[in-house]
Formats: sequence, C-alpha cells, structure tokens
Amino acid sequence: MIKVAQCWDDGVYTDIKLTEILRKYNAKATFNLCPGLMADNAVKPHWHALDECGWSYQGFHGGRLGKNDLLEVYKGFQVASHCMHHEVAAQCDIATFKAGAVDAKKYLEDLFQRECPGFAWPCGGATEEAIEVLKENGFAYARTCENTTDVTKNTNPYRLASNCHFQDGRFWSKFQEAKANGVGAFYFWGHSYEMMDSPGLWQQLEDKIAALSADPDVVWVDVIDLVR
Ligand SMILES: [Zn+2]
Repeated sequence: MIKVAQCWDDGVYTDIKLTEILRKYNAKATFNLCPGLMADNAVKPHWHALDECGWSYQGFHGGRLGKNDLLEVYKGFQVASHCMHHEVAAQCDIATFKAGAVDAKKYLEDLFQRECPGFAWPCGGATEEAIEVLKENGFAYARTCENTTDVTKNTNPYRLASNCHFQDGRFWSKFQEAKANGVGAFYFWGHSYEMMDSPGLWQQLEDKIAALSADPDVVWVDVIDLVR
C-alpha cells in the first residue's frame, strides 16, 4: 500500500477542469488558495494579447476563480491558506506575512465551515520567523518547493517537501522507486495553469491520475494525513 497525496496552488480558473478530472477518478487533493486575489466573480483564462503586461505562464493567464465559485468548485476537496495576496515570507515584513497567512486561513474556515490547518509557502519561501508565526496560529504543516525521496521522513512539517512537481520528467520512476522502496507515501504538487489550454498536457495529467487510481496499491490521502 502506498498513500498518494497531491496539492495545487493559487486558486486559478483552470482548477475547475482539474477538479472535474479528480472527481472522475475519486482522487483526493488539497488546493492552496489566495482569497485576497479573488474578486466576487471569476476571471476567465486567456492568452496574453501583444500589448498585455503582467504575470503569465508562457503567455497564458490561468484566470482566477471568483469567491462565489469556491464552495462549488472545491466541494469534497481540502482547501488551505496560500496567503491572502500570495505574500512571500522572505520578501515582506513579518506582520504582513502573518496577516496574509492567518487571514486566508480564517476566510477559508468561515466559508467552508471546517478546519483548514494546511499551508503552502508562496514561491516556496520559508523563513524561521514565519515558521514560528504558522506554529502560533494553528497551522499543522507548510509545503515548500523542495523535493525528497521519502515524504514520510519529512523531519519538519513546516518545511514539508514533496516527491516532485506533477510535470517532473521522472514522475513515474520516482513513484515506482517510492513504491519499490516501501516508502509508504508519494506526494506531488503543481498549478493547473501549467497545462494551459493544451489538450495534450491535460490528457497527460488525466492519464497520471487515472493510472494512480487504477493501481490497487494506491490509497489517495489528503496532505494533512501525511503529517498527522
Ligand atoms: Zn503560489
């Protein structure tokens, strides 16, 4: 038996398509959200126009979910704080980070009416001072962008490493290695906007989820189950 967990960052519009795929295969997942970046209503994904500036992924803007969409889109999944406005611990003062991390947690707990003890470091940036803030405010773990071959030996849950990004070229060999080595768990992460509007990339992800769900040794778990 191998526990498999996944999480997805930023609360983008393309999470709608992703959650449809995950539901189809009964796969669990945690979504790390920035409610402060969301308007009431959704912003659709689009390719940047010639004169359009601002953030994009290879020219693709993954859109944003609206606050009004959250309950429906993430129904049945776990949600976690990714800071209100994606505050990066190493790039802002500690009061700003604390407000970002804790306010997002409270917002999600009020909306979903359940405990949301998870956290993912915006841009992976953990600091010791910020870890203390998370500990003092009821967070149980915080995911970095670091990789490890054995997620069950994560010594510090506030610097939680995963096995790999979902588009890691060695995704399957890393999964097979973890399984063969009797590691007991496998954990991957990503952003749904990284599949853009590419049918091939979406199919590639669906094939991964389908294969994991079809594996009789796999038990989907939530990220919180890796640390509790
Ligand atoms: Zn992020």
